[in-house]
Amino acid sequence: MSMTTTARRAPMEMEAAMKDRATMKAVAVRPGRSNSVHLASLPKPEAADIPNGRGVLVQVLRVGVDGTDKEINAAEYGAAPPGYDYLVIGHESFGRVVEVGPNVTEFAPGDYVVATVRRPGMSIYDAIGTYDMTTDDVYFERGINLLHGFLTEYYVEDPEYLAKVPQALKEVGVLLEPTTVVVKGIAQAYEIQRRLRVWRPRRAAVLGAGTIGLLATMALRLRGLEVTTFARTPKPNKNASLIESLGARYEITQEVSLLEGAGTHGPFDLIFEASGHSPLAFEAMQALAKNGVLVLSSVTGGDKSVEVPADRINLDFVLGNKVMVGTVNANREYFEMGVRDLAQQEAANPGWLRQLMTHPVKGLENYATLFEHLTNGKGAIKVYCEVADL
Ligand code: BGC
Ligand code: ZN
Repeated sequence: MSMTTTARRAPMEMEAAMKDRATMKAVAVRPGRSNSVHLASLPKPEAADIPNGRGVLVQVLRVGVDGTDKEINAAEYGAAPPGYDYLVIGHESFGRVVEVGPNVTEFAPGDYVVATVRRPGMSIYDAIGTYDMTTDDVYFERGINLLHGFLTEYYVEDPEYLAKVPQALKEVGVLLEPTTVVVKGIAQAYEIQRRLRVWRPRRAAVLGAGTIGLLATMALRLRGLEVTTFARTPKPNKNASLIESLGARYEITQEVSLLEGAGTHGPFDLIFEASGHSPLAFEAMQALAKNGVLVLSSVTGGDKSVEVPADRINLDFVLGNKVMVGTVNANREYFEMGVRDLAQQEAANPGWLRQLMTHPVKGLENYATLFEHLTNGKGAIKVYCEVADL
């Protein structure tokens, strides 16, 4: 891990450097104004924009969108970079290297890459490459907060923030960023459980069967756990079949509550919460086995509150030595881990990942269709923009 921080050119110098540049299209929002998604025009970046000959110029091929993009366009959060009144969105990227600076040894033109999302701030965690664990209040995330994202034609990065994707995974490479969120959460759980000297998790539950729930079910099955995935949508539905084709169980929460399910299929050694419904976190605390670990990954921007059996939950946590952990974002290490999970999944169950790529939209100029699918897409799992041909 290197001690890099993002060196940026001074605004004046940057402006001068940008003057005679070719321009490119980008999909942007005006933070603070709801439904402001529009087509913007940006100067095309160059490898030389990154200091010390360390620039990697990447042509964007595909960009996935998710709830975060929807919420940014609804003006729930998101901030423009300093000096801009718009924010280029898109944080789930997939691209091809087109040019590298003279001091880049890690990548070559033609390589497929995915960029990490967060950039280092000031805390000690940022300084050691684990910017996903920052303790700073202000954080920098491409396409989300204070940095432009990837829904554009090109971007330039330092190799520190790029992960290589093998050619064989190019069709599904845009699934890597959401996969890293899952892989990080699970890696954190295993890391924490080293406290037990011996931990042999057998039964897991995943809450939610959206993109993250599907990928969490996949990753836990790859690690040999018996998985029960709880979701709202009745069967038959595509997500349920995808879950079952992994050899996992799909339970409908209207029919079998999480607690009932834990009685039959649990108790669960590991629970991965990805439903987006925060009250479930408190139910999950009660469905956890002794010595179990509960991973919370839903970004819930609302203000829901619930009444819980506090004494019961607290007592069982204490007497059962249980753990609950929150997880967000992922650094490059998890992108590299995620590539291995995707490759393993392709080998174990060829074509499964492809089935998640339900809603392609060709061309940045069709951003309205992208958002339409994201909001109303029937059977949508991954909605993504095909910016250029693979
Ligand atoms: C992204 C993460 C990010 C989080 C919070 C998610 O949608 O995938 O990379 O850290 O939002 O902004
Ligand atoms: Zn996301």
